Amino acid sequence: MSLRLRLTILFTGILGLTLVIFSFVVYLIMSRTLYTEVDNSISAMASSVVRSMKVSPFELDKVQIPNVDVFSSPGTYLQIVDARGKMVSRSANMGLQYLPMSEDTLGMAAAGREFYENVGYRDNRIRVYNYPLILEGKVIGVLQVGRSLSQVEMVLGRLRALMLSGAAMAVLTAGLMGFSLARTAFKPVERIIEAAASIQRGSDLKKRIDYHGPKDELYTLSETLNGMLERLESMYSRLEEINEAQRRFVADASHELRTPLTTIRGNAELLLKMGDSHPDTRAEALADIAGEAERLTRLVSNLLYLARADACQVIETSPVRLRELMERAVDSLKFTTGRKIEFEGLESLPEDLQVNVNADLIIQAINILVDNAVKYTPAEGEIVLGASTGGGSEPGTVSIYVRDSGPGISEEDSQDIFERFYRGETARGKSGSGLGLSIAQWIMQKHGGSVALNSKEGSGSCFSLLLAGGSSSG
Ligand code: ADP
Repeated sequence: MSLRLRLTILFTGILGLTLVIFSFVVYLIMSRTLYTEVDNSISAMASSVVRSMKVSPFELDKVQIPNVDVFSSPGTYLQIVDARGKMVSRSANMGLQYLPMSEDTLGMAAAGREFYENVGYRDNRIRVYNYPLILEGKVIGVLQVGRSLSQVEMVLGRLRALMLSGAAMAVLTAGLMGFSLARTAFKPVERIIEAAASIQRGSDLKKRIDYHGPKDELYTLSETLNGMLERLESMYSRLEEINEAQRRFVADASHELRTPLTTIRGNAELLLKMGDSHPDTRAEALADIAGEAERLTRLVSNLLYLARADACQVIETSPVRLRELMERAVDSLKFTTGRKIEFEGLESLPEDLQVNVNADLIIQAINILVDNAVKYTPAEGEIVLGASTGGGSEPGTVSIYVRDSGPGISEEDSQDIFERFYRGETARGKSGSGLGLSIAQWIMQKHGGSVALNSKEGSGSCFSLLLAGGSSSG
């Protein structure tokens, strides 16, 4: 059973029950009022008749029953019976008829009690007030005042019919209207269900629930669902990106690994075939093998580094004085580059300026930039390692830069050089795997910083490691 039908039945049931209770109470009060009114009118009539009696008890039959005003008291009858139950007088409007008098009535009246009773007369019910006429302590007769109940019963019958048909109509109307109102109210829910189902059926996460209506609970529901879909969509596309990057990485890595391996194998096969016959070629082949093996080692260690970097989500950092960090970086370059490197701004760095970093990783990033500068800048060119503070867009930014007077980087390349395995135009004829800058970028991202490039083709490049929030050690 649908929620719509259940709600309609529930509301209609409650309305029906309320109407039944209400009608019952109204009917009860109405019937009480009408019957009490009849009782009061006939007892009042009896009292007025008794007051007007001025006869001796022996002449009971001479009592003149006052004429009943048929307009003000329609259907009211008066009758006097003697102690034996014989009718002695009656009102003119009774004609030849008389009110029935039972033995029980006579007995009760004889006991001197005044009381009401309902008696049947032909098809009518008549309410009768029995008033014993007592003289000197002895009941000499009974004054009976009767009033037909047909009027009251007719009114109550009509009221019953009216209430029953009214309640039935009200329940029916409420049921029908409730059902159609519930349908209107549930329409948006159905639309939301339809939209959600179509999103579930298809794989298009771009679809949204199109809800036009007041800002009520349903609006909030559709907004929440749309928010959830948005999150799902962005997570899904992120997953796709990661998957794609992973696929590319594996393909590129295997390609990169295969090239030196092919060279090594080719040279080894050549050496096997040749034996000791050509010492020059043999030396050349061996040098090739050694060179490729070295390249392979570098590549594998870079790959391992990136794999580890991908797995490790947090890095350990500690506050380090920037000057000390730069001194360590300069030391690390002494033996590796074999080229003259100039230093800039290191002396003027504030003594107590600290950065919260993993020093080993930052030094590795600096080494990557310097290695690239050395690799791509002609021997007569200039390479500068420097550091400055507050130079970035935000105050407190620390910038460690490597500037060279090499070939510079074209606009197109500058978009891609941070991608894994991407090698630019400048890399032609130079060894490398295209992993250096992506490692440097990963290191900076882990520090909440970035690598910035400022370069023009043909006029050198400047790579900066930007770190946020240098602080004074106090
Ligand atoms: P690799 O140097 O092994 O090729 P990187 O990721 O370090 O890989 O660098 C990516 C590319 O960026 C290089 O192939 C090169 O084309 C370009 N590049 C990096 N540094 C410089 C530089 N100082 N001058 C000119 N080009 C550079």
